[in-house]
Amino acid sequence: MHTPDSTSSPAMVIVGAGHCGGRAALALRTAGWQAAIHLVGDEPHHPYERPPLSKDLLTGDKTAEACALLSDADLREARITRHVARVTSIDATARSLTLSDGQTLAYQSLLLATGGKVRTLRIPGGDLPEVMTLRNLGDAAALAQRLTPGQRLLVVGGGFIGLEVAASARKLGCEVTVVEGAPRLMGRAVPEPVAERALALHRARGVRVLLGVGPLGITRTANGVRMELADGSSIEADTVLAGIGIEPDLALPQAAGLAVGRGVMVNAHLQSSLPGIFAAGDVAEFPSVLSGQLVRQETWHNAETQAAIAAQNMLEGVNSALAAYTALPWFWSDQYDHQLQVMGEPALAATSVTRTLDDAGGMVIFYLDADNRLVGACGWGETSRVAKELKLARTLVERRISASAEVLADPATKLKGLLSHAR
Ligand code: ADP
Repeated sequence: MHTPDSTSSPAMVIVGAGHCGGRAALALRTAGWQAAIHLVGDEPHHPYERPPLSKDLLTGDKTAEACALLSDADLREARITRHVARVTSIDATARSLTLSDGQTLAYQSLLLATGGKVRTLRIPGGDLPEVMTLRNLGDAAALAQRLTPGQRLLVVGGGFIGLEVAASARKLGCEVTVVEGAPRLMGRAVPEPVAERALALHRARGVRVLLGVGPLGITRTANGVRMELADGSSIEADTVLAGIGIEPDLALPQAAGLAVGRGVMVNAHLQSSLPGIFAAGDVAEFPSVLSGQLVRQETWHNAETQAAIAAQNMLEGVNSALAAYTALPWFWSDQYDHQLQVMGEPALAATSVTRTLDDAGGMVIFYLDADNRLVGACGWGETSRVAKELKLARTLVERRISASAEVLADPATKLKGLLSHAR
């Protein structure tokens, strides 16, 4: 491998010190890059994993330290220079960027792994201190302080964040109401039959779930807040959590002249429209390997797997060939003692077939294209009972096996036995 001279060669710069950025920085060093690696991000913490924020971290079952991806010692050992700052501008022609602390960094390759900004409730009273959001460690610590037994929590948004927080808050002894504007839960990414089971579970565990109704405004009361809803009703609470999604912040890439759509547009090599600049993780809009359509994925798996490909391709000219991003989408959500998983792209299916996993509601819905090839699956059930089956289902989708609907639905069919059907 060619080893650049560490004094004269330009640096690798990563903007965004989250999961994807942290993983990419480490991958660059592991792949043999010898010169400087700069990891720039405005969060005060080193890169950490976000999934526990709405679950174990909130309930106190996990510490912030346990969520960390990189410690001080890891950064030192990998010789990664960490800047707690914002990038204020990028000069793509000069291949340099400026930081909010006044520094300028030159780059050979630049990775944008800037994630997204949490959406806030844009209604009267949406900015009251009792109205919170959950995106980073500080948010989780602030929310955790308020979730004490008997506290009334009102969650706006029945997506993953909202429902995971609802489950955690029930565990902590709070009274919980969820208000979802759409007629069903988790409409962005989860097929209806699984969303229905999740709804039944939340109601069975004591959460009041209101569907198809949005909030109009929030006012302070003598002992908390009151939220007025569009149907004329109102709900009182001590704390409101808005779990209504994130949006990539595209001002910086746009000002740098990069092509943007719903995210920073990249090709299958995660290259942006300008030379030497890559994007990965929540902020990247990339071609889906199954359909070729541009997609954005806000998942742990996407951050993890795109970081590796981006790092490899940032070393183009050092390590030669460009790698393509070919991973299929995969995400999960843990709610109470249940788990749901979605693998592949159910939306591309010609048909679907449901496989019952146990007598406690556990199931996998398999999604097949017109050639009976798996393009997706969605699983649900008590984690301890279905975890192994969901792992097998995911492998089947990743290998895009062909199987008939009858075979997949038959409880006598061992999923493991289908692995040999791979093309
Ligand atoms: P997150 O990752 O924050 O859970 P999702 O996009 O998965 O984000 O879910 C957000 C949910 O919030 C969606 O189900 C969406 O319909 C709902 N939602 C968005 N805005 C509002 C609103 N103003 N009132 C109620 N629900 C909302």
